Amino acid sequence: MNSEQLLARLIAFDTTSTRSNLELIDFLRNLLDDHGIESQLVPSEDNTRANLYATIGPDDVGGIMLSGHTDVVPTTGQDWHSDPYRMKTEDKLLLGRGACDMKGFIACVLAGLPQMAAERLQTPIHLAFSYDEEIGCVGARRLVESMTAFEVKPRLGLIGEPTSMNMVLGHKGKVSFRVTVKGLSCHSAYISSGVNAVEYAAELIAFIRGMNRRVREQLVDDSYTVPHTTFHVGNINGGTALNIVPQQCQFEFEIRNLPQQDLDALVHEIRHYASDVLLPDMRSRHPGSDIHFDEISYYPGLHTDPASAVIACTRAINPIDEIGDNVSFGTEAGLFDGLGINSLICGPGSIEQAHKPDEFVSREQLRHCDTMIENLVHRCRETAEFG
Ligand SMILES: [Zn+2]
Repeated sequence: MNSEQLLARLIAFDTTSTRSNLELIDFLRNLLDDHGIESQLVPSEDNTRANLYATIGPDDVGGIMLSGHTDVVPTTGQDWHSDPYRMKTEDKLLLGRGACDMKGFIACVLAGLPQMAAERLQTPIHLAFSYDEEIGCVGARRLVESMTAFEVKPRLGLIGEPTSMNMVLGHKGKVSFRVTVKGLSCHSAYISSGVNAVEYAAELIAFIRGMNRRVREQLVDDSYTVPHTTFHVGNINGGTALNIVPQQCQFEFEIRNLPQQDLDALVHEIRHYASDVLLPDMRSRHPGSDIHFDEISYYPGLHTDPASAVIACTRAINPIDEIGDNVSFGTEAGLFDGLGINSLICGPGSIEQAHKPDEFVSREQLRHCDTMIENLVHRCRETAEFG
């Protein structure tokens, strides 16, 4: 099957995040099997989803990893003009959910399998396909955890998110939290015997806002559309009636950090303000008071050195020899990079079409990616240079 036929097959699996991706993973496994390639699965905790990992070629040298997520965003509420899970060909475009984000890339990798399996590779090619990327790189985190035990890890990583085949070296990181503030309720005529959870939550939010103002001045990177780290509170919920001091308040916030900025330090500062400034005050009036942080999602930023090996390698195989601007969306690249896999983002299709109705990838983009994979296989056969 060529990449277009494979893309049609991949699109037909509804792998919306949080749904099972196992049918698609089975399909991939069988395909690898057909070429005599062993693969291993790293399942989700409840075994309803899985990451797939495989190595083609020698297993005692680093090599290059091709990585993509198998999940897609929902089509609910979107105005599609055709069945999103049936690939439609419209002249030069291939339409369907996941066409560019990012089943197109996976299809090109799969189309290269016969060639990968037939050649004696000196440098191994690793395949890493994850689940639940779209809801915060959930699957890849489990995959990366299991990879820490590998004796030999991939040296380079190509993450095929849609960049119009430009080589993208940077994106921001992100962490998000749900904060639950617990106080003590009482009649609002007697507020001194209660602890107002909404007001303490408001103090914490004001603190986060103050940090936003400070950090914005401290570190600026004009290569990003929003050139600084941002803080954002997206929802808040607390209290029942005006004449009752509210017992509970819950809000969610996120930080999207420039990769050069120490995210842990920022989170620590917020937690510290809650635990060492607000909480003692609350507990002096009601010992059962609490401020609890639940991490909802996390992925690190990516900040790849333009002089690094992964750029030189990708340059040599990519028909589009362009370094793209840093992107605003997150990817799994930062996670892999944190494992010591020198990574960049490069894949077919544009992020402009991702997550939208009538998502598409152009045939031309798919062909460019096919060429890149073919060139990679040649290179891995001829040289052991990035082993
Ligand atoms: Zn994606």
